Amino acid sequence: MIKEKGILFILSGPSGVGKGTVRKALFDQSTDLRYSISMTTRAPREGEVDGIDYFFKSRDEFEQLISEGQLIEHAEYVGNYYGTPRQYVEQTLEEGKDVFLEIEVQGALKVRENFPQGVFVFLIPPSLEELKDRIVSRGTETEEKVKNRLLAAKEEIDMMDAYDYVVVNDKVESAVNKVKAIVASEHCKRERV
Ligand code: 5GP
Repeated sequence: MIKEKGILFILSGPSGVGKGTVRKALFDQSTDLRYSISMTTRAPREGEVDGIDYFFKSRDEFEQLISEGQLIEHAEYVGNYYGTPRQYVEQTLEEGKDVFLEIEVQGALKVRENFPQGVFVFLIPPSLEELKDRIVSRGTETEEKVKNRLLAAKEEIDMMDAYDYVVVNDKVESAVNKVKAIVASEHCKRERV
């Protein structure tokens, strides 16, 4: 039997919706998914570790990666670059393992163009008010940045139609269970057998 390629899962949605929290909770449980660690030019937040949370790069290094075609997508988001490393994703899928991306909406749309067979999951907040509370209570952003992130979030929510699944993040545990159910159901799809 020919070995199947892995499935690429993309979790996206507005910043502050809790993508990172849902992803971490998912990976705290045992899962066969492989998380693709992103590259970014953003400065590390307290407690973040290079090579675990992100690969932290200078702008020059990042632009070099772009020009060498080493990223499957990249986006500039609130003044910083974020991008997904090509080699890790392609090689892991080739080995038959599923890869999980947690990225913002512009990047997800680019992945859609290059990996149309990917499974796209959009995480939405129960309401925009709640999203604002979450961004403010994180306390790591200036007022100006909170405003920018909220503006970006409103535009991003309009892009929901381009996704295969929509998950409301009312409770982390229930959102994680829904993502796990999506992964399981994709593996049961008839054309994959
Ligand atoms: P943060 O700075 O809060 O860690 O992330 C800001 C936004 O960038 C989040 O929406 C996060 O999902 C997104 N992000 C993280 N990694 C990537 C990536 O590789 N590509 C893109 N396009 N967005 C990313």
